[in-house]
Amino acid sequence: MITVMKFGGTSVGSAEAIERVANIIINTEGDKVVVASAMSGITNFLVSAVDTPNMDIDSIVEQFANKHLMAAEQMFDEKTMMEFRKDFDVRLSAFRKALEGDPNDAYYKDLITSQGERFSTLMLSHYLRMLGHDSVALTAETAGIAAVGLPLSGSADLTATANGMTIKVRPLLFQGIIPVITGFYGIKDGVPLTFGRGGSDYSAAVVANALDANMLEIWTDVDGFMTADPRIIKDAIKIDEMTFGEAAELAYFGAKVLHPRTIEPVRIKHIPLKVRNSFRPEEPGTLIHNLRKKGNGLLKSVATKNDLAIITISSAEIAYRPEMVAAIIKKVSEDNIIIYSISTSLSTVAILVSNTDVSNIIRRLNELSSGDIERIDVKNSVSLICCVGDDLLSKCGVTGDIFTAVKEAGVNVEMISEGASEVSLNFVVPMSMVMDVVAVLHAKYIGE
Ligand code: ASP
Ligand code: MG
Repeated sequence: MITVMKFGGTSVGSAEAIERVANIIINTEGDKVVVASAMSGITNFLVSAVDTPNMDIDSIVEQFANKHLMAAEQMFDEKTMMEFRKDFDVRLSAFRKALEGDPNDAYYKDLITSQGERFSTLMLSHYLRMLGHDSVALTAETAGIAAVGLPLSGSADLTATANGMTIKVRPLLFQGIIPVITGFYGIKDGVPLTFGRGGSDYSAAVVANALDANMLEIWTDVDGFMTADPRIIKDAIKIDEMTFGEAAELAYFGAKVLHPRTIEPVRIKHIPLKVRNSFRPEEPGTLIHNLRKKGNGLLKSVATKNDLAIITISSAEIAYRPEMVAAIIKKVSEDNIIIYSISTSLSTVAILVSNTDVSNIIRRLNELSSGDIERIDVKNSVSLICCVGDDLLSKCGVTGDIFTAVKEAGVNVEMISEGASEVSLNFVVPMSMVMDVVAVLHAKYIGE
């Protein structure tokens, strides 16, 4: 039985947090493989360091080292501290050397921003050893996590990773050693490539996939997926069980519990996933798997994504010119922009994107030949509401019920997407009204 356990930034954010996490690990039965994020705040610190022109390398190294050493001093005995310092110093000089590299290198930011994971894993692994458990700290390099893709937005090469980990990690498990592996990045052509912010969840799913694990546990600082954002809905409750599809939709469209890309690597191998709270390990969390357990309510959860914009592109009879639709989407995708929804009519294509991407998109669209586009309209500050429930599409009248409730809240729906997924109904409302809509839907349609 192999359990892959992933711990996020707050779960390894201080000496106390690491001690708590170590106890969770040693109290788990069977073979364990640990994946960890950087200590909380560290990746943000590294991102702002690389974004500062003429950065002061000495001061960055010093601040970075202090944060880790302070926690280390709090948790290690003298002997462990000495052993830790040896490994720490090697990694710290590699970090300094990395900072001194060429900032114009396409993968420089990946190299720098992924440094935090190398140190949090080292601390956790040494702490496990201090408690008498055999453990080794591995990096994506030494564990064999292979990546493909563009700077700052890599994906794992699942086949190459499975091959690498079979050789480099599996033998450790036979010897009873607990590997503690860096999250957030893989190796492409010998250099680090990160999986996007929050990507350690995805790393852990990739590790679970590569090792054919029996369970993936994502340990974070909340109890699991909720029926709504508890900051909006006071009586939101935790969801015990969900399918992969439901969790994927919710994660993608707003619930911040899990990185949306975490689902796929485990879904394809039918590996169940649990979201657990490292601050409340007695809570069972949310189990995500293939089975569908019917609930009584119409909806299982309502998630929201704010700060979006609808860009409507008008062009005569666009519906008869699929190449024009393709050209528009291609233009928009050139900057790696995420489109949350698309809807078309005879002469318009509307896309739902982040507010912050609007100016970039307009600039790109203006590169298309002027005769092709008649007009571009932008509606800023809208929110996407994602309603997830069992078999929403096959239930008669669901859409009617939901929109009746929205109407009762006095809210105008700006855009709708239904049918793309069997488990969700998504629609867009003005951002100022989002709380009212969620409150009405939660009160009316979410039940045990
Ligand atoms: N440390 C990385 C980040 O802050 C990866 C992660 O936490 O998942 O984005
Ligand atoms: Mg996270």
